[in-house]
Amino acid sequence: MSSKAPDQNFLFENFSKIVGKDDVSVDETELFAYSLDASNHQGEPWAIVRPENRDELVQILKFCNEQRIPVNPRGAGTSFAGQALALKGGVMLDMRKMNRIKEINIGDRTVVVEPGIVYSKLNEELAKYGYSFPPEPGSAMSCTIGGMVSNNAGGIRAIKYGVTRDFVMGLEAVLPNGDVIRTGSRSIKTSSGYDLTRLFVGSEGTLGVITEITLKILPKPKHVQVLIAVFKTAVDAGKAASQIINSGITPSAMEFVDQFTAAAMNPGLSKPLPLGEANLMIETDGTEEDIVKAEMEKAAKVCQESGALEIKVSQDPEERLQMWRARDSVTTRLMQLRGEGMVPYAIVDTGVPISRVPEALRELKDVAKKAGAPLIVMFGHIGDGNIHLALSIDPTKELEKGDKIARSIMETVINKYRGTITAEHGVGLSKAPFMPLEHGVALNYMSKIKKVFDPNGIMNPGIMGLDEIPQSTFTHMPKKIGGS
Ligand SMILES: Cc1cc2nc3c(=O)[nH]c(=O)nc-3n(C[C@H](O)[C@H](O)[C@H](O)COP(=O)(O)OP(=O)(O)OC[C@H]3O[C@@H](n4cnc5c(N)ncnc54)[C@H](O)[C@@H]3O)c2cc1C
Repeated sequence: MSSKAPDQNFLFENFSKIVGKDDVSVDETELFAYSLDASNHQGEPWAIVRPENRDELVQILKFCNEQRIPVNPRGAGTSFAGQALALKGGVMLDMRKMNRIKEINIGDRTVVVEPGIVYSKLNEELAKYGYSFPPEPGSAMSCTIGGMVSNNAGGIRAIKYGVTRDFVMGLEAVLPNGDVIRTGSRSIKTSSGYDLTRLFVGSEGTLGVITEITLKILPKPKHVQVLIAVFKTAVDAGKAASQIINSGITPSAMEFVDQFTAAAMNPGLSKPLPLGEANLMIETDGTEEDIVKAEMEKAAKVCQESGALEIKVSQDPEERLQMWRARDSVTTRLMQLRGEGMVPYAIVDTGVPISRVPEALRELKDVAKKAGAPLIVMFGHIGDGNIHLALSIDPTKELEKGDKIARSIMETVINKYRGTITAEHGVGLSKAPFMPLEHGVALNYMSKIKKVFDPNGIMNPGIMGLDEIPQSTFTHMPKKIGGS
C-alpha cells in the first residue's frame, strides 16, 4: 500500500473519469473537514470521492487496488473511535449519495436500502407503514445505515430488540479487486455456509465497501410508558436494574445516568427532569396496554424496594420524547467540554455481563480514580451491560496518564468480568491497543481473514489492530494538542 500521496492532479483526473468532476474534491478546506470525526483523532485524505452507484465503486476500488491507494469508506463521520478517518491518507469515499430505499416489503418484514441513508430518514418512511428498524443510536438523526452496520451500532433499545447485527439479513459489497459479493438470504432461517453477513457487520470498512443492505423490520409498539427513578448511589441503581431483569420483565430501554450526566442533560429542557445522584430511565412497550402498564408497575416496585428516593412514571408521548432527546444529547454535551481545554477521552464504551453491572459500576470508577482519572462521568445502556465512562484529560500534559487509565479499565473489564472493550462504538484507532487483550491469538486469525478479502491492505488501514497495534490510544491527535 502506498503511504505517499500521488500527485493530486493524477487523483482528480482518474476519479473524475469515473464519477464526474463534481463528485471529486482535492480542495484543502474540504480535505481538512473530512480529517475529523467524533473521536479525538485526525487523519486527512488525499482526495474525496462521492460515488452514486455500485458500478462506480467497482471502478474506484479496482483503480485504488492497482495503485495501492488506501480506501476509507465514510457515512456521516459520527464514529467515536477514529474509524471514519483516513489514518494512512488515500481516498475518502463519502457514501451519502447512495441513499435510496430500494424496497419496503411488509409481507416479509424486510427493507432493502443503500448504505448512505440516514437512520431517522429510514424510520420516517417505515413509520408510514407502522414499522420501524429499532436499534436507534444516540446519533439517529445523522448516522447512516452503512455506518451502523459497519460499527454494529447499538442504542437504548438493545436490551429488548438487539443491536444492528440482529437485523441484518444480507448485504451486497464490492471488494478491493472489484468482485461484487452478495451475502445472506431473504429467508428468516438459513444454515448455508459461512456467515459472511456477520463478518461484514462490525468490520469498520476493513474488508470492502457495502453497497446494499437487507434489514429486518418490526411493527412499531402501540403502547409505551416511561419512568425515571432517582437513587442515592450508582450501586443502588445498578442493583435495581439487575433485579428488574431477574423479575422477568424485559424493558424496551433501561438507561443509567450519574449526577454529572444529569447536570449535562437538564439545561435546555423546558421542564427539567427530576434527576439526582444516580438515575434510572426505564421504558416498557408492547401491543397490549395492560401488559405494558403491569410491567411498568413491576419495574417501579423493584425501584422502590431497591431504595429509590423518587419515582416518576409517565405515559405522555411529549414527556417521553423529551426524556430520550435529553438522553441522546449526553455525548454531544460531554464532547462540548473539549472547548474547556479537556479531552473527554474517547467516551469509554465497555460492556460487562448484566448480572455484574452493580459491581462493575463501583469497581470501574475506583480503578479509574486509582489510575489518576481527574473526572469520571458514568452513564450507559445499563440493561444490556454497556457502561460508558468519560474521563477528562489535559491534552497538553496527560496523555501518558490517559493511556494508563484506559489500560487499567480495559484490563479490569476483560480479565475480571470477561466483558468487552467496546460494546457498540467499535474499535477504530482508540481501542486498537487493547485488541490483543480481548482476543489473544484470535486477533491473528482476524488479520488473516482481512488478507483474504484485501491482500494489499488498502481497506481502511490503521484501525482495529489488524495491520498494526498502536502502543498509545492517543495517536493521530490533532497537532494543536500535541499528538503524533
Ligand atoms: C452524539 C453521538 C451519539 C452516539 N450514540 C451512539 C449510540 O447510542 N450507539 C452507538 O452504537 N453509537 C453511537 N454513536 C457512534 C456513531 O454514531 C455510530 O457508530 C454510527 O453508527 C456511525 O454511523 P456513521 O454513518 O456516522 O458512520 P461513520 O462514522 O462515517 O463510519 C463508521 C464506520 O463505518 C465504515 N463505513 C461507513 N459506510 C460504509 C460502507 N458503505 N461500507 C463499508 N464501510 C462503511 C467507516 O469506514 C467506519 O469504519 C454516537 C455518536 C455521536 C456523535
